[in-house]
Amino acid sequence: MKVLVTGGAGYIGSHTCVELLNAGHEVVVVDNLCNSSPGVVERIEFLSGRQLSFHPADVRDLSALDQLLNLHAIDAIIHFAGVKAVAESVVNPAKYYSNNVRGSLTLFEAAARHGIRRLVFSSSATVYGNNQDSPLREHLPRQPDNAYGRGKCMVEEYLTDLSRADPSWHAVILRYFNPVGAHPSGLMGEAPLGAPNNLMPIVCQVADGQRPELAIFGDDYPTADGTAIRDYIHVLDLARGHVDALQAALGNEPGLIFNLGTGQGTSVRELVATFEQVNGVSVPCRIAGRRVGDAAVSYAEVTLAHERLSWRASLSLEDMCRDAWRWQQQNPQGYSRKPLPDLQGHGIADIGIPAHST
Ligand code: NAD
Ligand code: UDP
Repeated sequence: MKVLVTGGAGYIGSHTCVELLNAGHEVVVVDNLCNSSPGVVERIEFLSGRQLSFHPADVRDLSALDQLLNLHAIDAIIHFAGVKAVAESVVNPAKYYSNNVRGSLTLFEAAARHGIRRLVFSSSATVYGNNQDSPLREHLPRQPDNAYGRGKCMVEEYLTDLSRADPSWHAVILRYFNPVGAHPSGLMGEAPLGAPNNLMPIVCQVADGQRPELAIFGDDYPTADGTAIRDYIHVLDLARGHVDALQAALGNEPGLIFNLGTGQGTSVRELVATFEQVNGVSVPCRIAGRRVGDAAVSYAEVTLAHERLSWRASLSLEDMCRDAWRWQQQNPQGYSRKPLPDLQGHGIADIGIPAHST
């Protein structure tokens, strides 16, 4: 298949591009690089041993999308492009509705004009809100607490309406829990352009001395150690879930929505302890107040994705911590100017990538 990947230069998109190329698909990326670097493209090509077509453009630009879709006969779209900082969405909702809702609607319009109606959409566990008991099942009501989550809900509902109105639309909605980790080669990982907001990149920056300590947001939650619980999932497992979801988008079933998580809850303290133990480093912590809008406990019910996509997360919290740290150590400044290894006639398999990447 020829797959258009919007936001393919980003964290989850780049890992998914490698998995798509490894699975034999052709890949076309559109990304406006508002939270990513062009340097990721050569890493994707290096890791997969294949080329992709990269287009720097905004998904809100209908004429740019039209041109691109005239150039490439696309079979299906994986739509990652969007902005994702929950706290920012509260103070700047316009940015979120514009990028994430208007951007999606523009993309779907361009797709329909070119006869493309098979799509995988990046949604989020945020759509469940903070007041429902885990494990969170796909049929629970959408109760988002912020503009980011409301935008994701709007796009989910729009896709559901589109499929109802025109059964030739086949959209698969994936709700990610907490993606962490990096490609086990150490060549690709999470490289946000500004300061990170999520736990794992902050833990990595504390471990390598870029920050003095981790502020743990609350140790008075009703959990065993008092810190909040999330469902962390390795980005490589998530990427592979997209390749499986793409197959599902080829089928004729309407309204497919899947959680992608491990089904396991991990507290902030547990994650920090595992990170310290597997990497032999220290992560100084201090207890800070709860972060406004945080859920105490959030983890996924994952049986639906297993039953319908034959997908299941296979990598452990130890793998996530090890790979995140390898990426951080090898790329403390993200993608800036690090030369790729010289293969000197050897294949990518010869540069010592841990077994779980193949
Ligand atoms: P990311 O910021 O690393 O990647 C998003 C990419 O989209 C970036 O490369 C950015 O430059 C691009 N982009 C943003 N707006 C664009 C626009 N208008 N036009 C073209 N390109 C645009 O983020 P990520 O973590 O890879 O997330 C990918 C998707 O997954 C997002 O939709 C996000 O909301 C969703 N998601 C992420 C998480 C997470 O914790 N990382 C969790 C749940 C859902
Ligand atoms: N967290 C923390 N300190 C930080 C960043 C995050 O204690 O500097 C906690 C946060 O309160 C949450 C967990 O780590 O309980 C995961 O946070 P993240 O922002 O990565 O994911 P989300 O809360 O959006 O699921």
